[in-house]
Amino acid sequence: MVSRTEVLVVGAGVVGAAIAHAVAARGRKVHVIEQNTPASAVSGASLACIGTHMMDEDELPLLKWSCDAWAALAARSPTFEYRRCGQIRFIAQADEFASARHWTEMETRHGLRPVLVEPDEVRRIEPLLQGAILGATWSPDDAVVNPFLAVRTLLALARAGGASVESGTTVTALRSGDKGVSGVETSRGRIEAEHVVIAGGPWTARLAATAGVHLPIVPRKAQCLATVSRPPSIRTVVGACKAEGGVDAGYTQIQQAGSGQILFNTVLEGGTSGAGNPDRIDEVDRIFVRDSVATLLRLFPSLAKVELLRSWVRFEAVTPDDRFVIGPAGPDGLLIAAGDGGTGFIRAPAIGRLIADFIAQAEPAFRTDIYSPARFQPAAGHA
Ligand SMILES: Cc1cc2nc3c(=O)[nH]c(=O)nc-3n(C[C@H](O)[C@H](O)[C@H](O)COP(=O)(O)OP(=O)(O)OC[C@H]3O[C@@H](n4cnc5c(N)ncnc54)[C@H](O)[C@@H]3O)c2cc1C
Repeated sequence: MVSRTEVLVVGAGVVGAAIAHAVAARGRKVHVIEQNTPASAVSGASLACIGTHMMDEDELPLLKWSCDAWAALAARSPTFEYRRCGQIRFIAQADEFASARHWTEMETRHGLRPVLVEPDEVRRIEPLLQGAILGATWSPDDAVVNPFLAVRTLLALARAGGASVESGTTVTALRSGDKGVSGVETSRGRIEAEHVVIAGGPWTARLAATAGVHLPIVPRKAQCLATVSRPPSIRTVVGACKAEGGVDAGYTQIQQAGSGQILFNTVLEGGTSGAGNPDRIDEVDRIFVRDSVATLLRLFPSLAKVELLRSWVRFEAVTPDDRFVIGPAGPDGLLIAAGDGGTGFIRAPAIGRLIADFIAQAEPAFRTDIYSPARFQPAAGHA
C-alpha cells in the first residue's frame, strides 16, 4: 500500500480519473483511492453524451474545450467507443422555439455548429423519429462514449504517467495541520499527501466536512431504462429542447448503445429527482418507467413491441446553482471537484485541466469564479 504521495485523488469516477490523467501528465506523483471499483457509481450508469447541451454562456468556453479534448483523446486512444453521432433536441411545443433559437445563436458565437431544423430534416437525420414534433436543434458534433471504457482509458493513461490506483479502500477522513492538508485516513491506514483532491461525487460533502469544509452538495436520484438489444436503428442522441434546460426541466435522453440496447431517461413532471442517500441503490420509480416509456413511444412509435430489459438508479451530486464545485477549499492543499448536475462526463477533461492548473499554481485555463467553493463559503476567502 502507498503511504506517501504528492497528489491523492479520492474517487475513480470519470472526474477523478480525468484529474489523475491531467495531473500525472504534468509530472506529479498521483495516487487514486476508490472505495468500490472505478466507475462503479454514477459514472458507470451514465449515458455519457459529450455535447454542450443547453448550458449558460459563461460555461461554453470550458465545455467546448472539454468536448474537443474528448475527441482528441479518442483519436489518440481509440479504446472507449467514442462515436460522433450528433444530437437532436426536439421541439414539442411552440414556446420552445425561442429558447432553441437562443441556444443555437449563443453556441454559434462560441464556435459550435448547432442549427435549427424542420421536422422533415429531423426525419432525414433520424428516420425512426416519427412522432409529432415541431422542429429541433441539430448539433452534428455531439458524441457518446462507453462510460466504463472511458474511465478505464483515463486511468490507464494516468498509470502510464506514473499514477497508481487503489480500489476497495475508503478515505474516512482528511488530515490537516497548521500548514494545511497533510494526508488522509483510509480504511487501510494513513497516507501522507501534499494535495488531496476530493472527486467523490455525492459523497464529497461528507468527507470535506472532516476538514471543516461545508459544501451544499446533495445527492439526486438519476434513473435509466434499457431495452433488449436490437439491430442498429437510432442513429443519434435525442434530447428535449426545454426552455429552462437541465434535468429538472424535463430532460429527455434517448440513444442506442453499441450493444444494440436502446437507453433512455426522461424526467417528466411527476418523475422523481429529489434528494436521496448516495449509499443506497433504490428501486427505479414506477412513475418514471411509465412516463419514460410514454415519451419514447411518442417519439419512436415503431418501438412499441420492443421489450424492456433493465433499469437502474444512481445518485448524481448537485449544488444549489447546478454548477460544479472546482478548486481550493479550506486548508491549503485541499481541492474539490464535485457537484456534477448531470453533466460530469462532458466536463471531466476540463476539470482535470483546471485541477492540474491549481496544483501547479498556473494561470487557470478557464474562468474559475463560477465554480469556486468560496461561492458557498464567503468567509473562507478563496477565489
Ligand atoms: C442515466 C444517466 C445519464 C447521464 N447522462 C450524462 C450525459 O449524457 N453526459 C454527461 O456529461 N453526464 C451524464 N450523466 C452524469 C454523469 O454520469 C456524472 O456527472 C458523472 O459520472 C459524475 O462523475 P463523478 O466522477 O463526479 O462521480 P461518481 O461517478 O459518483 O464518482 C465518485 C467516486 O468517488 C468514490 N468515493 C466517494 N467517496 C469516497 C471515499 N471517501 N473514499 C473512496 N472513494 C470514494 C465513489 O465510490 C465513486 O466511485 C448521466 C448520469 C446518469 C445516471
